[in-house]
Amino acid sequence: MSDRFTTFDVREVVKESEIITSFYLEPRTPLAREFVPGEYLIFEHRPENGEPIRREYSISGTRDDEIRVTIKRELAPEQGLQDGIMSTRFHDATMAGDTVKAAGPMGAFTLDRDADRPVVLLSGGVGLTPVVAMAHELAGTARETVFIHACENGQVHALGQEMRELATAHENFSTHVLYRTPIDRDQLGRDYDTAGMITQDLLEKLTPGKDVDFYLCGPGPFMAAMYDTLLAMDVDPDRISYEFFGPATVLRPKKKTVAKPTASDAPVITFAKSGVEAAWNPAEENLLEFAEENGVMVDYSCRAGTCVTCMTKVIKGSVSYSVDPFEQPKDGYALLCCCVPDGDLELDV
Ligand SMILES: Cc1cc2nc3c(=O)[nH]c(=O)nc-3n(C[C@H](O)[C@H](O)[C@H](O)COP(=O)(O)OP(=O)(O)OC[C@H]3O[C@@H](n4cnc5c(N)ncnc54)[C@H](O)[C@@H]3O)c2cc1C
Repeated sequence: MSDRFTTFDVREVVKESEIITSFYLEPRTPLAREFVPGEYLIFEHRPENGEPIRREYSISGTRDDEIRVTIKRELAPEQGLQDGIMSTRFHDATMAGDTVKAAGPMGAFTLDRDADRPVVLLSGGVGLTPVVAMAHELAGTARETVFIHACENGQVHALGQEMRELATAHENFSTHVLYRTPIDRDQLGRDYDTAGMITQDLLEKLTPGKDVDFYLCGPGPFMAAMYDTLLAMDVDPDRISYEFFGPATVLRPKKKTVAKPTASDAPVITFAKSGVEAAWNPAEENLLEFAEENGVMVDYSCRAGTCVTCMTKVIKGSVSYSVDPFEQPKDGYALLCCCVPDGDLELDV
């Protein structure tokens, strides 16, 4: 096992809602550094006969020397398919007294600690985990902070009381919760503030000022809708930070045309299965972005060299890593999210 993984003792397991559970974990050796709100840990499970399974879970808070992760049970979308491997393992087979292995903290979706602008933390479903960590840091500071959370109803609403308590204790911090389909026992004003979905009108009312930092996390359709709403509100895209919890497309508007490299000797990139060939554009940060710009869809998750979802077979040529991947991919493969071509390149995608 890579020595970047640390053993954590599971100290407590807390059910937060019918589908979401928190795990309080104490590392046996100190982490490499303190975490920045928004970062995640990578958990690894090594089945007896099989490849290691790795999944990211955002740090949702801390308690003394313990780190908390808050995990949704991912059920199979339809009969005959397998339930989510790692989340089911956490929910059904991880209890106080057990140990788990994780590496980190890491991630690019982090609270800008140098800014002094007001903040809107905008989350859907289990996407609240990284922004809950941000909420804890922001509450009690000079930055006005609004925590807006949307979920189905009280059955699946996690950490609601924790956020309400934060709002009661700190003047700069307020919450607004939306339930799409409240059930009988859900009480307006106590459990949630609005029935239905987040609208532009509501977002405009809740946003504290013109120059505000937005942090978004939630399911793909939620993120796409929120991003478009923020753009419609004339929010500068540079003020919007976001993270997906699974494969999804980047939100920022795609360039209409691909800027052609000026050098005539630019490497030629061939995406064999897609039948696409294009001259490498040095303005691109990595081959994943370049593939997307050229209409080649590659599965990805973390976009940070950890989850290996974008690992692709290299048929011809070689790559260099612009960002060190968490672990080198197996021979003959490349992690497209963090590498650039050394020359002409043919990829099996
Ligand atoms: C940066 C980051 C942070 C994250 N933080 C959190 C967090 O704080 N909390 C959290 O709960 N999650 C978080 N996630 C998501 C998490 O990493 C996992 O992706 C999630 O728990 C699912 O993993 P799994 O192993 O349970 O499911 P997987 O085994 O990966 O399966 C995913 C889904 O696909 C379904 N599936 C299985 N087989 C098939 C098939 N053949 N066809 C179609 N569907 C199928 C499964 O039933 C499941 O619903 C984060 C992800 C990222 C990238």
